[in-house]
Amino acid sequence: KDALLTPFVTSKGQSRDGHPLALYANIAVGLEAGSAFDRGAEGIGLFRTEMLFMDQEKAPSEDEQYEVYREVIDAAAGKTVIIRTLDIGGDKPLPYLELPEEENPFLGYRAVRMYPQYQSMVESQIRALLRASCHGVVNIMIPMIACVEEVQWINQLCKQCEDQLHAEGVSTGQWRLGIMVEVPSARYMIEKVADMIDFISVGSNDLTQYFMACDRGNRKVSALYDSLHPGFIAFLHDIAKVAKKSGVELGICGEMASDRRALPLLLAMGFDEISLSSPNIVQRRADLAALEFASCRGLLEKVCALATVEQVKAQIDQFWQQQI
Ligand code: PEP
Ligand code: MG
Repeated sequence: KDALLTPFVTSKGQSRDGHPLALYANIAVGLEAGSAFDRGAEGIGLFRTEMLFMDQEKAPSEDEQYEVYREVIDAAAGKTVIIRTLDIGGDKPLPYLELPEEENPFLGYRAVRMYPQYQSMVESQIRALLRASCHGVVNIMIPMIACVEEVQWINQLCKQCEDQLHAEGVSTGQWRLGIMVEVPSARYMIEKVADMIDFISVGSNDLTQYFMACDRGNRKVSALYDSLHPGFIAFLHDIAKVAKKSGVELGICGEMASDRRALPLLLAMGFDEISLSSPNIVQRRADLAALEFASCRGLLEKVCALATVEQVKAQIDQFWQQQI
């Protein structure tokens, strides 16, 4: 079986009829980048930078961060790298920030929402990212975007940091800005921030949680927490259409991206890239090579008309059986 998969380590993600869909890797530490590329990643679709900031007594310095971001960009050797800015707070506390306890941490003070209060820490991350862009294009991705003002704020901060670096005689390279779509309201903001961003990436873990009003970690409601809910698929389809219309690149980096059942739907919706944990990449690329775009479009249409998760899964399973 492994031998059958070998060609899919180095090939590019595409359907049988040549419709491209790149397979990127999610990583949590800089060191992981090298092995992700060895395992067939066509890019890094999500570098979660939280680990850099956790389990420490203070935030990492700009220089320390620069070294890590540079390591990932060097490993990528020209391939796409998307680095997410700090997604902390709420359920993921940092001892040195002294964040208040909250009744509803997932609905509270987290990620981009706390950036203005900790601006200098955010600046150190942006500066490190911009400095690293000398070694290859850096795609900066902002988590938990819910409104236009947040994108304006971060966009200005990035430009300000760039000007500052130049004034200090430090050079920067090419960087691009993107947002995570993981709060439902962001769907309606895409068109309005399109002139400030280059790409979006759907965070299906949080987007499912907020769409279904269903705690992603609560086992009591885990049956309801399902990204294959027909309502969620319709919503995702809608997000994809808006992204296409707005001319922003479209990716997904939540768990849904590694689900074999979701694959034909994501292809049909026109995703440019899916980002998943690297051990799954080769298998998903092989699965993708068995699909034909037009029949995936047909499946998507059928699935959107269904009423329950169970029906959706049965329909997709039947579809996969027809592919082999
Ligand atoms: C997501 O919400 O889908 C996501 C990729 O971010 P995280 O899992 O880190 O919240
Ligand atoms: Mg998230």
